[in-house]
Amino acid sequence: MQVETDIMQVRVEEIREISPDVYILSYNRPFQFVPGQVVGLTLDPEEAPRLYSIASGNREDRIQILFNIVPEGSLTKKLIKLKDGDTLYSTKPFGSFYGKSRPGYFIASGTGLAPYLSMIESGLGKNKVLIHGGRTLKSFYLQDELKKMMGENYIRCCSQEKGDGVFEGRLTKYLRQQNELPADHDYYLCGSSEMVSEARDILIDKGVPFNNIIAEIYF
Ligand SMILES: Cc1cc2nc3c(=O)[nH]c(=O)nc-3n(C[C@H](O)[C@H](O)[C@H](O)COP(=O)(O)OP(=O)(O)OC[C@H]3O[C@@H](n4cnc5c(N)ncnc54)[C@H](O)[C@@H]3O)c2cc1C
Repeated sequence: MQVETDIMQVRVEEIREISPDVYILSYNRPFQFVPGQVVGLTLDPEEAPRLYSIASGNREDRIQILFNIVPEGSLTKKLIKLKDGDTLYSTKPFGSFYGKSRPGYFIASGTGLAPYLSMIESGLGKNKVLIHGGRTLKSFYLQDELKKMMGENYIRCCSQEKGDGVFEGRLTKYLRQQNELPADHDYYLCGSSEMVSEARDILIDKGVPFNNIIAEIYF
């Protein structure tokens, strides 16, 4: 990925906790972007930005970022202290994890959901199945909105708790159990490197062509 280094000052419009340790940060939108792209964010232009997928649609007037606190991390615990009107530094959008109009599967662990939120809000969700994996039932923070937008094509996989309508187990277990994964669909993978590599291997084993697998790893 060619990392964008050009950085600009933006204005925080809202920071909201949507589940324990998971937040949505909004700031004014000074650029166009393609759903699936990322930005680099920092509070100090001298420090290396951390990368975040844009989670809002490309017709909205705000940029939204979905992130979780990394306890030992540097930026995330500072981001949650921001207040409306504060200054933040953002790069221009970059990356090539683009949503396409072909049918496909949006597969995410944790906050890897973010680029798909942008793609769905931008009108690319109609012929997609969204598979979201999380440890607890609280991981499905945006489930009410997603159920409305995706209906039956929204699958929640929970590894540590049981819930109504929720698949019991990791999303990789869910993928392993699928007998028909169409070879002519696109398979988007986004989240931890463990999930992305395991899911990729399962898809290839099941006959999905390598070229139809598009991945974004959060590290
Ligand atoms: C393409 C891409 C997109 C991403 N999109 C998102 C997103 O949409 N939402 C999201 O929540 N996250 C996303 N991430 C992850 C995000 O960029 C950050 O890594 C994350 O938010 C943690 O940032 P931090 O500054 O709080 O932690 P960091 O300071 O980066 O620390 C992260 C981890 O590294 C360890 N660490 C830090 N410094 C050292 C060191 N010197 N030696 C050893 N270990 C160290 C820390 O203990 C911690 O466990 C994305 C990553 C990539 C690459």
